[in-house]
Amino acid sequence: MNNPGPAILTQLRAVVGAEWLLTDADALARYGVDQTTVYSARPCAVALPADVGQVQALVRCAAEHHLAVVPSGGRTGLSGGAVATHGELVLALDRLDHVEDFNPIDRTVRCGAGVVTQQLQAFAAEQGLFYPVDFASSGSSQLGGNIATNAGGIKVIRYGSTRDWVRGLRVVTAAGELLDLNRGLVKNNAGFDLRHLIIGSEGTLGVVVEATMRLARPPTDLAVLLLGAQDMEALLVILQAFREPIPLTACEFFSDRALARVLERHALARPLDAEAPCYALLEFERDNGAAVDNALQVLERCMAQGLLLDGVVSQSLAQADALWRLRELISESLAPWVPCKGDLSVRVSQLPAFMAEVDNTLGRRYPEFELIWFGHLGDGNMHLNILKPAAMGVEAFQQRCIALMQCVGEIVQRYGGSLCAEHGVGLLKKDGLRYSQSQTEIQLMKQIKRVFDPQGILNPGKIFD
Ligand SMILES: Cc1cc2nc3c(=O)[nH]c(=O)nc-3n(C[C@H](O)[C@H](O)[C@H](O)COP(=O)(O)OP(=O)(O)OC[C@H]3O[C@@H](n4cnc5c(N)ncnc54)[C@H](O)[C@@H]3O)c2cc1C
Repeated sequence: MNNPGPAILTQLRAVVGAEWLLTDADALARYGVDQTTVYSARPCAVALPADVGQVQALVRCAAEHHLAVVPSGGRTGLSGGAVATHGELVLALDRLDHVEDFNPIDRTVRCGAGVVTQQLQAFAAEQGLFYPVDFASSGSSQLGGNIATNAGGIKVIRYGSTRDWVRGLRVVTAAGELLDLNRGLVKNNAGFDLRHLIIGSEGTLGVVVEATMRLARPPTDLAVLLLGAQDMEALLVILQAFREPIPLTACEFFSDRALARVLERHALARPLDAEAPCYALLEFERDNGAAVDNALQVLERCMAQGLLLDGVVSQSLAQADALWRLRELISESLAPWVPCKGDLSVRVSQLPAFMAEVDNTLGRRYPEFELIWFGHLGDGNMHLNILKPAAMGVEAFQQRCIALMQCVGEIVQRYGGSLCAEHGVGLLKKDGLRYSQSQTEIQLMKQIKRVFDPQGILNPGKIFD
């Protein structure tokens, strides 16, 4: 239904209270979009429920009137998953921000869907523990959004994605019923684990209202190593050499072009004496200095073999932070070029051949575009950013990028990779789904969607039509 009448808005208002059903233009514009810049926000209203009961009542009301609902978290998504363009009701979980029932024996804590990722990280630290899912937008993104996108980030190589930290999930179905999935259990092989179907479903199967999250032992005394190499192939050999003796907590990649934009925008000095086309940032626990000694030995060996052009190990927390900033500042340093963003993954071993093929093919067909690579080397997830040439209009650029991404999709498909590595499909990547999932898989997904949401009111048009 588009634009529900006043009677339905009155009903929704009665659920949350007048103050928490927003219909002013500013709120609709703010809550109707995420970090994608290509969609115009057009929700009918924004509801901010105070508790699980209100979420159920809102969804029941929406179901009764065939009103589409867009679950919304911190709206840091990069695929248009939380975008409302067709008069939908935005269901913003901001007020479900409770953190309770911490259990030190189970090492779990129960969180509302609206808890900001960084809030959970801070809570874990207060208990002497660690919540390891982390990325540049964790100061704004919410747990519900992280779960709905199965967010990854910079520590996946050691700790996995959000999925690995969800012990239990409470979900409101499209009929307004409450599912209490897995209830914090470590072992539970009682049939299908619906929890894992909800994780990564981008608000299309249910509204996540609460999650029981697992916490970890915190890493101690981290060191950061920045390495410069001639090419990706050398970088993979180097990575293998470091991985053998040293358990890494992060392994990130950026190209010289990505680094140049960061240094220029933030007026920073070059981190290494020698210039290199490719950089890897490795993080590991010092292990009372033993790991650093190991790292220095591997570094020397790789230099002697001519694999490594230059490298530096952080000597202090401040230096480690400064090296991390070179990676963390890339996205915002590229923002002025309104880049078209590819979120690609292949198996780690295939990265050199895959990236070279994308570079060569796009270089031939789109010589006017600058390509910038950075991403999560340790798990094979690369963010390909294509910068808009200054002389090209935004719309013309976006049109060109549709064809360009199809070309990238065909390469991804040949490598058995994915065009939606960690940011989800949303609206933006729907066309990309066919490059990594077979028609049979897509048909099964559509059937599952119909089982969970027969009326199609939960985030319609996202992932697939
Ligand atoms: C600078 C920057 C860096 C980033 N880096 C990374 C990264 O390294 N790794 C990574 O994985 N992502 C990254 N992202 C993307 C984004 O931050 C993640 O996808 C994040 O998990 C989205 O959370 P959110 O709360 O902002 O969700 P939103 O953007 O609000 O929503 C995302 C999706 O989840 C659904 N949703 C939200 N809340 C709920 C709920 N309670 N129940 C059901 N569905 C819900 C929405 O409908 C939508 O489909 C980055 C984004 C930015 C801007």
